[in-house]
Formats: sequence, structure tokens, C-alpha cells
Amino acid sequence: MSTKNNSNASEVFASNVFTSKVMEQYLSKDNCQKLNRIISQGLELDRHLAKDVAEAMKNWSVDRGATHYAHWFVPLSGMTAEKHNSFLIPRNNGGVELKLPLKSLITGEESDASSFPSGGLRSTFEARGITKWDYTSPAFLKEDDSGIVLCIPTTFTSHNGISLDKKQPLMSSCKALNAAGLEILELFGDTSSTSVSAMVGAEQEYFLIDQEMFRQRKDLVLTGRTLFGSNTAKTQDMENHYLGSLDEKVAIFMSEVDQALWKLGILSKTKHNESAPRQYELAPFFEEVNLACDHNQLTMEILKRVARKNGFECLLHEKPFRNINGSGKHNNWSIRTDTGINLVSPGKTTAENARFLTILCAVLTGINKHKDLLKASVMTASNDHRLSGFEAPPAIVSVYLGDQLTKFIETFIDHPNRKNVSMEDFKLPRLGTRGTDRNRTSPMAFLGNRFEFRMLGSASSMAVCNTVLNTIVADEIFNITSQLKNSKNFYQDLYKILAKNFKAHFNIIYNGNGYSDEWGQEAEARGISSVNNAPESFRAFIAPASVKLLSKYSVYNENELLARYKIKTDKYIKWAKIETRTLLEIVHSQILPACMKYSGFLANNINALKQVDASVYAETHVLKKIVKNVDNLYKNSEILQKNLDQSNEISDLYKKAKFFHEIVLDNMRSARDNIDDLEKIVDRNLWGIPTYTDILHRD
Ligand code: ADP
Ligand code: MG
Repeated sequence: MSTKNNSNASEVFASNVFTSKVMEQYLSKDNCQKLNRIISQGLELDRHLAKDVAEAMKNWSVDRGATHYAHWFVPLSGMTAEKHNSFLIPRNNGGVELKLPLKSLITGEESDASSFPSGGLRSTFEARGITKWDYTSPAFLKEDDSGIVLCIPTTFTSHNGISLDKKQPLMSSCKALNAAGLEILELFGDTSSTSVSAMVGAEQEYFLIDQEMFRQRKDLVLTGRTLFGSNTAKTQDMENHYLGSLDEKVAIFMSEVDQALWKLGILSKTKHNESAPRQYELAPFFEEVNLACDHNQLTMEILKRVARKNGFECLLHEKPFRNINGSGKHNNWSIRTDTGINLVSPGKTTAENARFLTILCAVLTGINKHKDLLKASVMTASNDHRLSGFEAPPAIVSVYLGDQLTKFIETFIDHPNRKNVSMEDFKLPRLGTRGTDRNRTSPMAFLGNRFEFRMLGSASSMAVCNTVLNTIVADEIFNITSQLKNSKNFYQDLYKILAKNFKAHFNIIYNGNGYSDEWGQEAEARGISSVNNAPESFRAFIAPASVKLLSKYSVYNENELLARYKIKTDKYIKWAKIETRTLLEIVHSQILPACMKYSGFLANNINALKQVDASVYAETHVLKKIVKNVDNLYKNSEILQKNLDQSNEISDLYKKAKFFHEIVLDNMRSARDNIDDLEKIVDRNLWGIPTYTDILHRD
């Protein structure tokens, strides 16, 4: 292991971040205090202070060797964007000086930003996009072989304030949750907390494969997933990978990842093998959601970069291999006050438990009312392949509470003396955070001090699902608190409201096996099953209930939601098209030529063998199989080509996406079956494309 990786972790931690410690060095004491207060309380920043901060940031960056600065943001493509500017400015009397002008810190203009997806929110003649400094997420230095750049996290909006990114809506949802949380605290007599935040820790799963293998698979290079490949002889059934000891090369990669993350103040905590061969997980320590989202974005980037440096390729796609576990990003979510109270955790007193049950009730109610929106928030073309698949959460949204808490809610709802009973009459069971009955098949599990939302895909930004979670919970908290404003019998009234809601939304609780077939049927009977494909799921963004909810808290307005719907659907179509074209290219340039070579070889062999009266039994059988599959594959490729042409005739976005989902993907699967059959019998040397065994079981 390199000595670099042995450097003191606490010294390395956040060494590339503009932290309070750095501020103390580069700003006056007074300014430091002001800035810290503004950040922690979400106040407006005045220009005077901002000017000093700009100067401090520049001085620190330049001292650290930076030459450029960039506004760093996450446009709707979901990939981070940055445009680098150098600190150099010409002096009037010749020469240059280094500067970060105030205007450049606070706002930036992306004049050529029309190439970012906007879903029609910004026409090309109004192409200007504005980036605006998010001073709640600290600036950081991005370091690689090309140099050091000061990155300033920003939001991204159109010139007239319409959100074109994922950060702005997330921040608005945080505001709503803060306001709702403060109402709850006030109701329960907490006067010392001044803010409430969603806290998130996301477990990032990924595959790490040899770059040499990756490069030989055009499907992985172009689409992120394998479009064909027969099952390996050694399946996951051996279960010897999960938490197994780390391969040394992988361990070196992980320690380099840790170093890079720690420098950026990202507290990566655990790393281990996941269930599938060559699958791994990285979990950071939880933190405030806006920061957690920025950090996860950087984590994905670093995983990719460090993998390449170490001869690997990091696959973030949710389903790179068929019949093998997919990758998710388990989103652990809770709510915390600035005084350190976790509102998602039961307490000891009646007030603490009543507060917890109020939040629990808001979560269950919100999820049941807006389950389609929550699902849409994690739906992508790639995650669509994962959900409901091999050991992935089902596409049906439900909540796991565990038997103890569920039983408690049952007795709560059905109390024989419902008219006079009060919150004081209930005692919560002791719930462990490490309970033995942790249900891994649930899309949303309560874990004693947090909710773990498991539908989010490994490649996605965490921002949208947390935006939805924050908003639905905030809205339900307000629904509860508004009914209690003039309450004379607080605990009695609260009981009535909670019991009514728990009863109405009890059907969203499911503690059974989410992978079972029976669950699909039961969910249907309960009336909580929902659409099971991406194109239809996206429509939840423009459903009246979603528009009403999200515009109420200025998270998204109707236009912004329509734009997101369009972008998501358009992206789905684009991916399906890229996959179809990629498959066709591989079929025609690699697979068919290899198969034809082999069938020619067999045909010649058969002729030669016949001349000496030798048996041609095996050769004939293999040849027939090859010819049959080659014929079918060729025909399927003709159909797919036709499908691509047909899709160009469909102008309606939704119909086009449905066409790809229902027809084209199905035809791709048929072609894949032919290829997978061929892979098993064609000479490996002629086949020339790494198989699942080559990629996943090399050692
Ligand atoms: P497991 O694999 O058992 O789910 P991990 O340790 O891999 O556990 O991941 C748990 C994740 O949940 C970590 O990112 C952790 O920081 C996060 N977490 C723990 N407590 C909370 C909490 N109260 N709120 C939000 N996230 C939390
Ligand atoms: Mg987990």
C-alpha cells in the first residue's frame, strides 16, 4: 500500500474544504461568527460579508495551488457540471492579478447552457442559465492530475428564476420540512431548537470490474449494462462474496477512494463486499441532506476516477448483469433538530413518544397518499431493470415497521375507549435500532431511528427522492398541527387525529416478504399496487395531487414539473434507443461474423468427416443449433431496426416511451436469448467477447 494512504486520517479529513477552521484563518473573527450564523440559520448573506468571503476563498485556494474556480451544480441530466474560470485578471497598467470577483462568487451565467436538458423551460433564444452560490454547502478544492480547482456549489435556474437543477427544489423542500418541524416542536413545548433538518446517509453500491474486460464490452462502454451474456456456471448461490475478505487490489482502490473522500470532508465509514460477485458498498456517515446529496455526487465521481486509475471500471448502473443482484443506494433518512434531537426516534416521556408517533403518522400518511410520486422520483430507464428483480425491492411502495410497532399501532387504533383515551394512556414498546427482524425486502423500512428507503438506484442523484420525502412529510405534519392549533385537550385531540390517520393508511404497512408473488396479489387487494413501468410512473410528476402538493411549498411549480416529466420520459427513450443501436452494432459487427465463421468451420468439418465415413453427429447438432439461432437473431435484428424506424414516426412522447417499453425492450430480450444460446456453443476464441464468467469470476 502506498505511504500516501497511511497519512493521518484526521489531518486529511476536510483538508480540501473551506471549513470553519479555514475561515478562522482567512476571515476576521467577527465575519466568521456572522457567516456561521447565516449558514446554520439559513439567513440571507449581505454583500459586504460576501465580498470578504470571496477574497478569503480566493486566498485559501491560491495558497493551496488552485489556478481556477468553477460553479459546481447538478443540472437535470443528473451529472455534475462545472465551467472553469481562471483567477487571472489583467491589471490596468499591465500584468495580471488573481481575483475572485464578488459577482463571480455569487452568480454565474451559463450563456451556452441550452445544451443542458430543460424540458422546454428555456428556449434556445433565451438560453441563459444562472448559477447561484449555495453558501450552505461549503466550497471545496477538486484535485486531480490536471490541477486544483476551487468548486463553488450552486443552484441552477433560468434567467427568470425557474429551477433547472435538482438542488433548488431540494432546498425548498428542506425549508418546508424545517417550518413543519418547528411547528411540531412548538406544539410539544420545545423552545430551544431553532431549526430542523433532514439527515441522510446513503449506502452506495457498485460493481468493480477489470477495465480490460470493460473495454471489450461495447454494451458496457456505451450503455452501462450488459445487453447479453448467459448465466455463469458459478452463481450467487454460493454466497461467499458478501462481507468476504477484500481482494488486495480492491482494498487498495477503496483506501484511495477513502483518502479522496476524506479530503473533501466526506466521512466514508464502511466498505465491504456486497452479495454479488464483484459488487461492493460504501456507506458514509449521515449528514444534512443537501450536503449529503452534494457529497454523494462527488462520491460517484471519485469512485469512477479512482477505479480507472487502478485498472478497474466502476459500474454504477442499477442492473449491469441479468440474473445477478442489482445496485441500489439505500437512502437512510431521519429528521434532526439543531439541538441534536432525532425526531424519528421514540423517546422516554409521553411528549417524546407522542412527537415520534406524530412524525411516524406523517410519514405513513404522506407515503400512502403520494406513493406514485415517490416511486417516480427514483424511476429511471436503468432502475426500471432493477426494481422487482433479483433481490431488489419490489416496485410496490410499502412501509416495514416490524411486528412490535405494527402491533402497537393496531392496539392504538382499536382502543376500546376511543372517545376518552389520550396519548398519555399509551406506552411504546422498546424498539431496538438493530432489531433481528430487519426486513431487507421492503422498499421503505423503519429501523428504530431512521427510515431506509431502498428504491433509489445506484446511479441516480439522491436529490429528487429526498425532495419528495421532505415535502410529503412536511405537508402531513402541517395537516396534523393545523388541527391542533386551538386544542383544549391536546393529547386527547392528538390521539384522535393520529388514530384516524393510522387507520386510514394502515394498508401501506407490510412486514412480510416483499419478494414473494403473493405480495403482488395482496397489494392489489389492499389497493396499494401501482404502475409497474417507468414511462407510466413518470406521469406521477404531472398528476394533480403532485402539482398541488409541490407547488404549495414552492418546491416545483406546474411548469417545472411538466419539464421534469418531459426530461425523464425523453431520457428514457434516448437510453432505449442507444441500447437498441448498440445491440444491433454488436450483433452485426461481432456476433454474427463470429457465429458464421464457426458455422463455416463446422460445415467444412462435416464435409471432411463424411468423406472418411466418420460420424458427424455432434458437428451436425451444434451446426443446426447455431444456424437456427443465427437465423432468429438476424430476423430479430431486422425487427429491431424496423422498430427504430417506427419509433421515429411517433411524435407523442408518452406513446413513444411506451412503444420502447412494451415492444422494443421485449424484442431486445428475444435477440438476447438467441445471443445467450450462441454464446454457450460458439468457440470462445472466435466469440471474442468477455462472458459473465470472464468478467465476474476471474480469480
Ligand atoms: P446497514 O447496512 O445495516 O443498513 P450501514 O452502516 O451500511 O448499515 O449504513 C447505514 C447508513 O445509515 C449509514 O450511512 C449511516 O450513517 C446512516 N444512518 C445511521 N443513523 C442515521 C440516522 N439517524 N439518520 C440518517 N441516516 C442514518
Ligand atoms: Mg442499509
